[in-house]
Amino acid sequence: MLQTTAPACPNLFSPVTLGKLTLPNRALMGSMHTGLEERPTLESLAAFHAERVRGGVGLIVTGGIAPNPEGAVYPGAAAMTGEAEAERHRVVTRAVHAEGGRILMQILHAGRYAFGKAAVAPSAIRAPISPITPRALTEEEVEGQIADFARAARLAVEAGYDGVEVMGSEGYLINQFMAPRTNQREDAWGGDAARRRRFGVEAVRAVREAMGPDPVLIFRLSMLDLVEGGSPWEDVVAMAREVEAAGATAINTGIGWHEARIPTIAASVPRGAFTWVTQKMVGEVAIPLITSNRINTPEVAEAALDGTGIDMVSMARPFLADAGFLAKARDGEGHRIAPCIACNQACLDHTFELKTASCIVNPRAGHETELVIMPAEARKSVAVIGAGPAGLAAALTASERGYSVTLFEASDRIGGLMTLAARVPGKEEFGPLLRWYEAEVEASGIALRLNTRATLEDLADFDEVVIASGTTPRDPALPGQDAPHVLGFEEALTTPARPGERVAIVGAGGIGFDVATYLTGDAEPEGSAMAWASSWGIGDPEDCTGGLSGAGDTARSSVAVTLMQRRPGAPGKTLGRTTGWIHRSTLRKRGVTMLGGVTYDEIVPEGIRVSLADGTRRLIEADRVILCAGQVSRRDLADALVSMGRTVHVIGGADKAAELDAKRAINQGTRLAAAL
Ligand code: NAP
Ligand code: SF4
Repeated sequence: MLQTTAPACPNLFSPVTLGKLTLPNRALMGSMHTGLEERPTLESLAAFHAERVRGGVGLIVTGGIAPNPEGAVYPGAAAMTGEAEAERHRVVTRAVHAEGGRILMQILHAGRYAFGKAAVAPSAIRAPISPITPRALTEEEVEGQIADFARAARLAVEAGYDGVEVMGSEGYLINQFMAPRTNQREDAWGGDAARRRRFGVEAVRAVREAMGPDPVLIFRLSMLDLVEGGSPWEDVVAMAREVEAAGATAINTGIGWHEARIPTIAASVPRGAFTWVTQKMVGEVAIPLITSNRINTPEVAEAALDGTGIDMVSMARPFLADAGFLAKARDGEGHRIAPCIACNQACLDHTFELKTASCIVNPRAGHETELVIMPAEARKSVAVIGAGPAGLAAALTASERGYSVTLFEASDRIGGLMTLAARVPGKEEFGPLLRWYEAEVEASGIALRLNTRATLEDLADFDEVVIASGTTPRDPALPGQDAPHVLGFEEALTTPARPGERVAIVGAGGIGFDVATYLTGDAEPEGSAMAWASSWGIGDPEDCTGGLSGAGDTARSSVAVTLMQRRPGAPGKTLGRTTGWIHRSTLRKRGVTMLGGVTYDEIVPEGIRVSLADGTRRLIEADRVILCAGQVSRRDLADALVSMGRTVHVIGGADKAAELDAKRAINQGTRLAAAL
């Protein structure tokens, strides 16, 4: 039975005033670069934003738009420098206003993070994540940069924006001026804390003067730098007061520079893990405060607002996963919100790969004008075989179009490999995702046949057959692998390790890493977000500059895991672009040994004998050897149907097992059903 609940978020759904604007709720759609900003025309960006306003968003901040070419994140990235560009943006502001929403343009000057030879910064110091050493600005040029902020703000208002957000965090230019780490000047723009803050404050003042008194001006302040040489807390507070005095309407929270080696938005970061930082600022300024990071449900948003003194929450990725997040929460349909699982796979990873940002859970995000789910012209019967991510996406999309869908699943539950992922510490967000799929299947009218392996006879009368039968583990055919202490990954992920156990893992892809993370779960910090924070060396910024307290509690596991691959080099290079380093770092902290360039010689009762890249032979002692050697497509049913002359659609892992992931599976399933 589907339950509907009364609106349970009174704080989230109470109006809030920002300057002259009154907004219907306290959620800000935070800045997110989509890649649509660089298209020749901005219709697709307009459609992306308008869909979110229809879903209940009251105020949007755009992706970062540079005030001049040298401030763009890469050569040719979006910049607001002239009337023609302002005119180009009108389609966006018109679309948002037509739906009753409001939108601010974020002015982002990348400074030394600009990926181009023109990069400028307070001092000529290269960022550890960039190959480019920036040029230090002269005093005159610093003033020119401030003038460019003002010009961008004036043009934004001309383009119809309701104001701007000035990006002062995440290690971008204003932040670079603020922190001793990156500002070693001794002139009017550096040398002491007040002069380091001056650039950001003057930029805010100039932006306010350029826009006039009415438009909204949010300043995104780095409250926790999480890098060495960051700003002490008293500077952060002083900056908040000075930008307030210079004309800011509200202050948004920034957490962590891009070069910080502490996770701030990944799935392993507890929900609402940084709300306490914004709370520290309460009472220091009179203007509204906005908190952010890992707020992905209405309940977490409500908790961040309830009795904390915080005025608004900023969420970005949850509105990619579900454009209707707020409308559903408001209407008591919170269980129908497609949850953001904080994987970064289709959003941030895409941004860094210069692809259009989208969402693993919602492939329409960023593709609103091109991936349209239209009602079907004729009612067809559709059989979908397999209720993993590909099959679920295909079944739900086909059902949404009005087809009569039967979903066959051989096991007793839906979800496929996602049910195993949900067991891995740091991947708990797969649990709510699975519950959402269950709610959607139940609400859709899909005939779900669990515990049913579809036969050729079962499929005889369907108009369309979609095979999403997934994968089976690859057999690495290692000598000795039939021994009783050798397990597959599915068994390993349902059998916790014993304290003190020794485990060898064959294969270091996504699943090998997941298994190692699961087996060393005893090292996971227990309890609150603060325990998690201290395990990563995050401290109270009043006690430690930039919130960096040291290396963090080195929580080693009692389980001795060796994770191996045949490919030379360190394992983990194929993991997600923005999250792979977190998985590697987590396992290192737990004491996992990672070996590349391994040849597996033989599994023996004492463990596994291997040859290493330098030619030496070794026994890796292990009580259990776990095979995580990749996947092969399971397509016997598809082959049998094709040999009978039937046309079938094969998707997900059944189509291509190599580099299989849920992103490709869900995207393929959705697109197939949209076109059936
Ligand atoms: P995978 O990522 O393709 O990794 C397979 C591993 O097995 C590799 O380390 C490979 O390394 C090794 N291997 C391949 N053939 C072998 C053989 N014949 N003998 C021994 N070792 C062999 O596959 P997976 O780990 O099964 O993951 C399946 C998919 O799910 C992947 O695409 C993965 O990205 C996705 N997934 C993603 C995540 C995530 O965090 N994003 C988590 C779980 C799963 P060598 O060939 O170098 O030995
Ligand atoms: Fe969230 Fe992952 Fe979707 Fe990004 S791709 S919005 S992190 S679910």
